[in-house]
Amino acid sequence: MKRSHHCNELRPAQIGQDVCLAGWVHSRRDLGGLIFLDVRDREGRTQTVFDPSDLPKDVFDRASGLKTESVVLVRGKVRQRPSGTNNSKIPTGEVEVMARELEVLNLAEPLPFQIDDPEAAAKVNEELRLKYRYLDLRRPEMARNLRLRSKVATATRVFLDEQGFLEVETPILFKSTPEGAREFLVPSRVHPGQFYALPQSPQQFKQILMVAGVERYFQLARCFRDEDQRADRQLEFTQVDLEMSFIEREDIYALIEGLLKRVWKTALNMDIQTPFKRLTYFEALNRFGIDKPDTRFAMEIVDFTEEFRASSFKVFSGAVANGGVVKAINAKGLAGATQGQIETMTEYAKSFGAKGLAFIKVEGGDWKSPIVKFFNDAEKKALTEKLQIEEGDLILFAADQWLNACEILGRIRLYCADVLKGQGKLNIPADRFDFLWVVDFPLLSFDKEQNRWYSSHHPFTAPVTEDIPHLKTEPKKVRGQHYDIVVNGMELGGGSIRIHQPDVQKTIFEEILQIPPDMVQARFGYMLEAFRYGAPPHGGIALGFDRMIAMLCGTTSIRDVIAFPKTAKAADLMTESPAPVEPKQLRDLHIQLKVAQPAAAPEKPAEVKKS
Ligand code: ASP
Repeated sequence: MKRSHHCNELRPAQIGQDVCLAGWVHSRRDLGGLIFLDVRDREGRTQTVFDPSDLPKDVFDRASGLKTESVVLVRGKVRQRPSGTNNSKIPTGEVEVMARELEVLNLAEPLPFQIDDPEAAAKVNEELRLKYRYLDLRRPEMARNLRLRSKVATATRVFLDEQGFLEVETPILFKSTPEGAREFLVPSRVHPGQFYALPQSPQQFKQILMVAGVERYFQLARCFRDEDQRADRQLEFTQVDLEMSFIEREDIYALIEGLLKRVWKTALNMDIQTPFKRLTYFEALNRFGIDKPDTRFAMEIVDFTEEFRASSFKVFSGAVANGGVVKAINAKGLAGATQGQIETMTEYAKSFGAKGLAFIKVEGGDWKSPIVKFFNDAEKKALTEKLQIEEGDLILFAADQWLNACEILGRIRLYCADVLKGQGKLNIPADRFDFLWVVDFPLLSFDKEQNRWYSSHHPFTAPVTEDIPHLKTEPKKVRGQHYDIVVNGMELGGGSIRIHQPDVQKTIFEEILQIPPDMVQARFGYMLEAFRYGAPPHGGIALGFDRMIAMLCGTTSIRDVIAFPKTAKAADLMTESPAPVEPKQLRDLHIQLKVAQPAAAPEKPAEVKKS
């Protein structure tokens, strides 16, 4: 027997035909002496009927003993379903297959969790889903995510090919250049005591490809970062990585806008508007308190520095006297915030070093707040007008240095939006996507603890040309040719125009980032040398592919769009990795362990419930 149709193919047009379906037993029902098997494959499912009056006994018995998820071939004739039994929820719901033959290709044991019911499946513990990932991936919701991922990957390749890009693979075994996140090291057997590192991104190779004359490179690149796992991070993840020669920032913006237009059309059949809005880093922080603003709602930060410069409320005027600012947001309709919610917000403020959180609840025609008594009429008027204060509002303040004040209110703004969403007072349509470019980042940020400058993006980012003269004198003022693409408050990607002059690059490494010259030579010597043999001006960007797919699939977890993700504790529960290795393997790699090798796997999933 050989499959003649997939399980989402039969329609009334095939009535009377002999067909053969192959797939998994999605469900089995015994009704009025008949057995109904829903056979499912990647495409969908079809009902098959086993009638004992019409079948050899052994075929019927085999059907009646089948456990769900067994793999079968069913041959039979397509017929119209008896009237009143159509299933309008599935495309094959008007027909069924009257079975003649049944071949069982593989019997399934009782399942660790139920997969035929999306609601039940959604409640299954994620660790169990990860251990039995092959069952989890059979669920139509998960299969849809993988399919969408594949479609978007193909659309990306086609689009970039049309734009003249070459797909080039770069090494996975790279070299340690510990500038960004912690790296994974791979011991060399052939070179005792030496290591490769897995790439955090193909950054250096893609720049070298520009020196090599490739002009337009892209790759769906796997990147590795040994970071503590936050909710939506993975140790290994995929980037749409690209680099171009002889271009400026505008060329990257136009290219990525075209690519995202194609991707959104392919995945969601949606026409997104281009060009995207642009915000400078300063504006993003000043208005939204974050460098990846969610602009789907307003609640913008308003400045009151001038109004409170001479205020008798010393907390505010004192902050201004110290070179700081006074800023506020109006969380409309949140005057009823609970004590617990106010405390949460106060904790956010404190986590940025603030002493507390000043706020006003506008309730019953009154401004309820211990600080209002310090405000004069002009100050009240300014607040009312600039924040458009009305009954039911909650006003929240920050009086601090500019960056801190912005970041405090930025964090609180997002929290308030979540609370308002929960209360149904803020509704954002699920199909709304606010794309924007954030530009004009500072090239450098200062690390107070280490008392040194570090690159806001990475050390290969070019300064804005007219700012280069200030590099050594006023590094703070120098803008980088760096850009981020942001969607709905999520950083989808970032990139920059690069430094292609070896002397500028050397200055950045040695004089600004203070990396000792011998270390610069050991880590980046080959790059500086390459730039001496004819390096074209170039720039590029990388988009977080997993995050983009998660957004297109409408899920908040990137684990839902990665076939075999790791847990928050960095383990693969299905293969039980990481795992101990044989002493001989360690000897070959010239490695001696200082810890006892764990005997068992690192993590056990929750108890397996048999259904
Ligand atoms: N390699 C950079 C990153 O991973 C992106 C880029 O600058 O192209 O963030």
